[in-house]
Amino acid sequence: MHVPGPSWDAVLRAPLNAQTLTAASSLVAAAMRPRLRASRKTGAPVVDLHSLFQASQSVLCLLEASGRVRAVTPNAARVLGEACDRAAELGISARELLQADHATEVQSLLDDLSRMDAADSRNWTLSTRAPSGDTRWLEVTGRNLLYDAEVAALLLEIRDVTRDHALNERHHLLGYALEQSTDAVIVTNAQGFIEYVNTAFENVSGYRLAELRGRTPAILKADRHSPGFFEGMWATLRRGEMFRGEIANRKKSGEVYFEDIVIEPIRDANNQITHFVSTARDITARKHAQNLADTAAFYDSITGASTFTSLRERSRQILALARRHGLTAALLQVDVKGLSGVATSYGREVADELLRKFAERLKQGLRESDVIARLVNDEFLVLLSDVAEEAATARVVRRLRESVSRPYQIRTHSITVGCSFGVALYPQDATTFDELLDYAELAMKRAETAASGYQFYRKETTELTDERLSLEDDLVWAWERKQFLLHYQPVVAVTSGRVIGAEALARGHIMGMEALTRWPHLHRGLIAPAQFIPVAERTGRIVALDRWAIATAARQAAVWSQEGWHGWVSVNLSARSLHDADLPAYLRRCVEANELAPGRIILEITESSAMRDTEMTARILSELREAGARIALDDFGVGHSSLAYLKHFPVDILKLDHNFTCDIGRAGKQEALIETVITLAHKIGAQVVAEGVEAERQLVWLKNAGCDFAQGYLVGRPQPAELAFAISAAP
Ligand code: C2E
Ligand code: CA
Ligand code: CA
Repeated sequence: MHVPGPSWDAVLRAPLNAQTLTAASSLVAAAMRPRLRASRKTGAPVVDLHSLFQASQSVLCLLEASGRVRAVTPNAARVLGEACDRAAELGISARELLQADHATEVQSLLDDLSRMDAADSRNWTLSTRAPSGDTRWLEVTGRNLLYDAEVAALLLEIRDVTRDHALNERHHLLGYALEQSTDAVIVTNAQGFIEYVNTAFENVSGYRLAELRGRTPAILKADRHSPGFFEGMWATLRRGEMFRGEIANRKKSGEVYFEDIVIEPIRDANNQITHFVSTARDITARKHAQNLADTAAFYDSITGASTFTSLRERSRQILALARRHGLTAALLQVDVKGLSGVATSYGREVADELLRKFAERLKQGLRESDVIARLVNDEFLVLLSDVAEEAATARVVRRLRESVSRPYQIRTHSITVGCSFGVALYPQDATTFDELLDYAELAMKRAETAASGYQFYRKETTELTDERLSLEDDLVWAWERKQFLLHYQPVVAVTSGRVIGAEALARGHIMGMEALTRWPHLHRGLIAPAQFIPVAERTGRIVALDRWAIATAARQAAVWSQEGWHGWVSVNLSARSLHDADLPAYLRRCVEANELAPGRIILEITESSAMRDTEMTARILSELREAGARIALDDFGVGHSSLAYLKHFPVDILKLDHNFTCDIGRAGKQEALIETVITLAHKIGAQVVAEGVEAERQLVWLKNAGCDFAQGYLVGRPQPAELAFAISAAP
């Protein structure tokens, strides 16, 4: 066997004692061990350490105490470069041999080593320079054999760990990134058993990695997917493709959560799948919001019937089917009568319960393929997918009407409500849903006065629709030519006694003026708001109309201020304007431009428009108040009037509807109710205006009941601004 240099022979040929043998052998590659053991077994007393050293698969280096290289194994050149072949000959130092980036590092390594006990070993990782100039990471295991008289050297085992080091570094970084990631990560092996999950996953699922190791992700199953779902997922993955989808999982706590998930197969160098990595984002909040929106869009929250929007959607299918199969479909519009009375007498909850039961009875009388939807407050639509002919449809309608007209038992009350049905047929009457809707509505209006309680659409009623269409055109035309006017109707204080008409004016008891829009049509004369406001709402012009009314009324208020009258001017707002987010800013500009004191503009809103979106309404109303307006709740007593709502909104004034006022002196029950409403309104700090006061006895009664203000023909009709104060008295 070749021996590198003479200085070696003495050392390496020296007989080994047990201690040096163990020390050396532990440093020699594992491959050598069987040989070593064999020689001990056979009782061979001496092992040729030199041979061992030469054959070592590890790079070994023997150093003098001074750090001078005494010998290196032949394989050292592979790691340390050609120069080390003659390292011993040239007497170079360990520092030079290793080419460490930090010289002091090698020195302290040697110092540590010299101080170590024999048989101890230690590891260092050094960054060094490879002959190429690249960084080369060396792992050095050192042993102090100085005390061994035979060897008297420091022994280094050197391994190039550059690749491992880079990998480690990368793994470390990746691991760090994984741990920091907000995405939940699961790594499984090719069989689907979990090997790793990150902290985000632990936090979301509530499981710890230790509990999950060796289990499959099936532990998370929430049973929200069809059986084929996971089979399909695994099939995709086994084909080596990426899977992406939404998955419902179950937390350890049992709670279900939703994830947007991406699973990717990981392959080894042989292109075999070794792992699957799943990265998921929690989308539960988004899902919930979406579900809520979906439900709100499709189902009416009170009755559980469909919404108008979803009925319109369904109608497409139903009408298309009817067209293809030559069937007749029918659209029914149903108006529930007296619901507002129920709400005023028994409260809103009872009215809601009644609506729910009403819808339920309608549903019971229908087939699965028919759709029932709630249109507005107390109106329903029913779309019958397949009816024989008019007579048969009439039978269905009569049956439905009979069923919903039977008394309802709600809590302790037995309540009966009336209803009228309007029917339009496809394709006899109309071929589009919108047309059907118009015709069913016209028929329903006629049904209100029909003894049978229902009506089929008849051609002659079309004229009305045509009129409406031409009204839409005319409205645009008139609006562009600024043909609208405001009339003003006075509101007086009733507490001051019998103050009527001219007398009120004389005594200065007019507290406010309500602005009411008038449209003097070129051919038809003055058109009532009842006719054109719905048209303006349909065409979306109502928001501009309301703004115009505010601006005009504010200007008028400023004119009246100059004339010495400082009462309020009220303007009606449509439901749409409650979604006009810029209205508060607009109002503020009007108030400031006309130098009006806060509260001089009152905005009248109706309860039903406020209830469409209570949150939005509450917000916009308080903004309007901040901008200088007061808020009046108009038409109280129509619809679901309930004082409970007043809590939701900042209301300064409550306007009792005509229907209330006209009962004064007639029904005892209504009178008691008005008194209660007035008392409660005062309790929440609101004042009360009674609308539609036409007779003196009403005024007297209202005064006794503590009502604050009155408005009506008795005091004054709506008049142009110039006449509003002049001749108020009713004939
Ligand atoms: P409203 O807010 O309830 O207005 C009061 C209505 O009652 C007015 O009808 C008024 O002329 C009428 N009225 C006043 N006193 C009496 C009375 O003693 N007896 C009877 N039978 N009626 C009386 P008008 O002017 O036809 O207005 C109808 C509705 O149109 C108003 O109801 C209001 O909701 C709406 N409206 C009017 N102008 C505007 C507007 O500029 N914008 C919006 N969005 N709506 C408006
Ligand atoms: Ca009003
Ligand atoms: Ca009113």
